[in-house]
Amino acid sequence: MTTVGILGGGQLARMLALSGAPLGLRFLVMDSVDDACAGQFAPMVVGDYRDEAALGEFASRVDVATFDFENVPAESAQWLSERVPVFPNPRALATAQDRLAEKTLFQQLGIPVPPFAAIDTRAQLDDALATIGTPCILKTRRLGYDGKGQFRIKTPADADAAWDALGAQAGKVGLILEGFVAFERELSVVAVRGRDGEFRTWPLTENWHVDGVLSASLAPATADAALAETAFAYARKLGEALDYVGVFALELFCRGGELLANELAPRVHNSGHWTIEGSETSQFQNHLRAVLGLPLGDTRMVGLACMLNWIGQMPEAAPVLSEPGGHWHDYGKLPRAGRKVGHATLRADSAQDLAATLVRVGVELDREAQVAPVVAALG
Ligand code: ATP
Ligand code: MG
Ligand code: MG
Repeated sequence: MTTVGILGGGQLARMLALSGAPLGLRFLVMDSVDDACAGQFAPMVVGDYRDEAALGEFASRVDVATFDFENVPAESAQWLSERVPVFPNPRALATAQDRLAEKTLFQQLGIPVPPFAAIDTRAQLDDALATIGTPCILKTRRLGYDGKGQFRIKTPADADAAWDALGAQAGKVGLILEGFVAFERELSVVAVRGRDGEFRTWPLTENWHVDGVLSASLAPATADAALAETAFAYARKLGEALDYVGVFALELFCRGGELLANELAPRVHNSGHWTIEGSETSQFQNHLRAVLGLPLGDTRMVGLACMLNWIGQMPEAAPVLSEPGGHWHDYGKLPRAGRKVGHATLRADSAQDLAATLVRVGVELDREAQVAPVVAALG
């Protein structure tokens, strides 16, 4: 009996556990809170990731460890990796945790990025504003997610407000200033790399964010094959450079037909949730196969798929469940503003059918605005 340990007990851990059940796997989840939603399906160790007693108990009960939460302290991941195999490796995790290290690696690998500068002081912010120009975004280097820890600077006059909002973080998690990319589209590559270096990607995914939070994903993206190949080549280079094992996502901006890398998520990714029903093998199943050294599954699509995120509270399920290609995922979380509480995946065999399905679901759930950009992309 193999037990997979997962650091972090959110919906990603929950979906990993659900997809690992047919493989006969057991799971142990570690989280700092006792009501983490993966705990509904797997036993838990509740404790701080920096607490060696709790982490030691976790290590003693698992055969291999992986992450649901990308901000597990790098030292804790390192400590764990000295006791049990950990995938992805702590260096890959540490690189992806720091926007500066991440963007520096992208540059070294020849992957284009928006202009950026590390910011530790107010004077550096003024200097960087002069070189990068406006609009731009001031972000915390670490610990940001769902667009948190970011301040959009529209004109140089916003510098004071940006520093008021985030300046206190400069000495703690560091800051980075990035040029604002007036992108036409956001895309992501969800990829998997096995212990033996085998590399696969799912079809390119197109994403729409609202207030910095993913709202909808469409696969395959309406992109030409050459663009997709470029995106896949960037992901492959990253996987190799980091000796990455498991699933990761590379978020990209597409502007004027060119790709610019935004960030690397060292884990299964929200823009890959559609793979559960829309692909031969889901990102969750392939992540487990990768970390266990099992053969990777085929990543080809089954039709087209659109994922809609439910933020704050769950809508009514019936309109989605009534659709032939409708699939429902309720994470079992309490409602809270801004929180990802579930998602739906709509699948169809043609772009026309998928668009029609989305229009119906949008009207019935009063979510026309959420489905509109996807319907437009489907033509
Ligand atoms: P998550 O990890 O949940 O994807 P995050 O908090 O790490 O989010 P980012 O991915 O950096 O944040 O930003 C969230 C969204 O904000 C992006 O997907 C994009 O829509 C927008 N955004 C971020 N940086 C830029 C940029 N430089 N130019 C234009 N838009 C941006
Ligand atoms: Mg992020
Ligand atoms: Mg992001």
